[in-house]
Amino acid sequence: MSRLLKPARVLLLGPPGCGKGTQTSRLLKRFGISGMSSGDLLRQHIKDKTEIGSLASSIIKQGKLLPDDVMVKIIESELRSRSWLSPSQSWLLDGFPRTEPQASLLDSQILSPASANLNFIVELQVPHEIILDRIANRLVHVPSGRVYNLTYNPPKVEGKDDVTGEPLSRRPDDDPEIFRQRLVEFDKLTKPLVTYYENANKDAVFEVAGETSDIIFPQLESEMIKRFGEKAE
Ligand code: AMP
Repeated sequence: MSRLLKPARVLLLGPPGCGKGTQTSRLLKRFGISGMSSGDLLRQHIKDKTEIGSLASSIIKQGKLLPDDVMVKIIESELRSRSWLSPSQSWLLDGFPRTEPQASLLDSQILSPASANLNFIVELQVPHEIILDRIANRLVHVPSGRVYNLTYNPPKVEGKDDVTGEPLSRRPDDDPEIFRQRLVEFDKLTKPLVTYYENANKDAVFEVAGETSDIIFPQLESEMIKRFGEKAE
C-alpha cells in the first residue's frame, strides 16, 4: 500500500548507469509504491524466449533502442494488466518513455484519457566518470531487476542475489563499446525528453545531482514528501 497521501506517477530519467535502478528500489520500498522498468520487462521477454524477446535481444546487444511503436504497445498492455490507468494509483516508470515520440504517445493515447498523467519527472544527474565505474562493477539479478555494485553495494554472498540466492549476471550491453553507444543514444534521444516535459508540465520536473545513491536518495525522498505528503503511521 502506498504511504503517500496523494497519488504519485513518477518517471525517473537519467543516463544509463546513473543509478536509476537503485533509486527506484529505494523509492518503492520507502513509499510502498510499485515500479515498472522497461529494460527489466524486455530482459524477462528475452529470458522467456518470446517473440518480443528475440527482437529485443538483437537490438539491446547493439546498444540501440527498440522501435517506439513496439515499446508503446508493450508498456500500454503492461499498464492495463497492472490496473495502473486510474487517477488514484501511484507508480513509477523507469526507462520508459525514452524518446520524445514515446512520451507524446504515452501522454496523448494512454495517460491523458485515463486522467493519469505523470506528475513527478525526476532527472538524475551523475558525473560521467562515476557512471563508467558503476558499469564496470555492475551485476544484476534478472528476475527481480535487483542491481548490485561490487564497490558500493556488493551482494552478501559473492555472485548470488541476497533475497533468492540465485546467480547474478553481467548485462551483455554493459560491455564498454556497447555502453558508449548507449550513452550516445541517450544524449541524442532521451535528453530532449527533459525539454519536452519542461514544456508540457514544468512544475512536475525535478532535477537532482549527486555522486552516489546515498547523496541523491534523501533529496528525492524529501521532495516526494513535499509534493505528495506522507500518511501518519
Ligand atoms: P535499460 O535497462 O533501461 O538500460 O534498458 C536496456 C535496453 O533495453 C536499452 O538499451 C534498449 O535497447 C532497450 N529499451 C529499454 N527501454 C526502452 C525504451 N523505452 N525504448 C526503446 N528501447 C528500450
